[in-house]
Amino acid sequence: MVYLDHAATTPLRAEAREAMLPFLGERFGNPSGLYAEGREAQRALDAARAATAERLNARPSEILFTSGGTEAINTAMLGIAYAMRRAGAGAHVITTAIEHHAGIHAAQQLEELGFETTTLGCDGAGRVSVDEFARALRPDTVLASVMLANNEVGTIQPLAELAAILREYAARQRHRVMLHSDAVQAPGWMAVDARALGVDALSLSAHKFGGPKGSGVLFLRRATPFRPLLLGGGQEMQKRAGTENVAGIAGTAAALALACEGVAERVARVRALRERLREGILAAVPDAAVNGCRTHCLPNNLNVSFDGIESDDLVARLDARGIAASTGSACSNAMWEPSHVLLAMGVPIRRAAGSVRFSLGEGTDGADVEAVLAALPGEVERARRAVAAAR
Ligand code: PLP
Repeated sequence: MVYLDHAATTPLRAEAREAMLPFLGERFGNPSGLYAEGREAQRALDAARAATAERLNARPSEILFTSGGTEAINTAMLGIAYAMRRAGAGAHVITTAIEHHAGIHAAQQLEELGFETTTLGCDGAGRVSVDEFARALRPDTVLASVMLANNEVGTIQPLAELAAILREYAARQRHRVMLHSDAVQAPGWMAVDARALGVDALSLSAHKFGGPKGSGVLFLRRATPFRPLLLGGGQEMQKRAGTENVAGIAGTAAALALACEGVAERVARVRALRERLREGILAAVPDAAVNGCRTHCLPNNLNVSFDGIESDDLVARLDARGIAASTGSACSNAMWEPSHVLLAMGVPIRRAAGSVRFSLGEGTDGADVEAVLAALPGEVERARRAVAAAR
């Protein structure tokens, strides 16, 4: 099998699995327990929190473990916006049209709850404009949420520049706007340094970097206004109630440590493979067009539109040849809609309808790329004939 859908999920790293196993077996204690088994689980949580904080250049007290990227994003956006409004800072939120649905739907809920939102568009490469961002700021803006790297086309946003705009705005207007970023797609492919990025909150998902599914991380900068979303016990420093997923958290920390090692070599190797795939497809398939940004792009992402096909048909044909790719966002595959990201980039609907995302991973090699290049041109041709015949 040729697996080129690492943006959807990655295989669990052996070391993450090893780190998890004791907590799925003999070390079953509840970290809140006031006896040896509980203390052992609490020690594992403390170690995972310290290791995760170190990787993100944060303090351990700034790290919350969640049930995944979606929960981290929802918690950050709703939790910060509520707290800011309650403090009388205002009720305006800035976000972008290319966020993952976890962010888009959280913003929609904020609107239902009386917040006003400004949704920034992007250019043809999927980049948000720093000037437009600056113009969207208002005296009642409380939160800006902008993803670090897009899951469909891989475009990287100028997050540190946006943070600088907010610092300057705070100095000039005496009004601080909190900045959250969905950085789910970034670990392993670029530096994720919470302080260098200048964010107040940042969300990660373990299964995108070789950790387990259902486990995520929320960086919440010290003193960031925050109201918990999950209510109950006092876990996670009173910020996220519920008995901790000790095994998942141990696996998350182990996977993040490995993802953050050797990034430059990984990026160079995988980018070369991605370029070979890109050039090979463009040379072999007439009317193929690459979607995304040439300069600010995750090295493992290749989103290509094939004119005159339906992407789910092509993905099924590739699957029959043992190749796993995706029609953009795996999270929204249940019912086909044109990708909101491609539409925001101005890609015509016909081209958006025929787009396929190949996302490479640490285990991808040259043979995988050659297998796709051998199968793809013929399958695109057959997919085109199928669409033409149905007309
Ligand atoms: N944000 C982005 C950019 C993603 O790609 C995903 C997963 O597809 C998520 C958020 C949601 O993460 P999770 O699957 O851990 O809930």
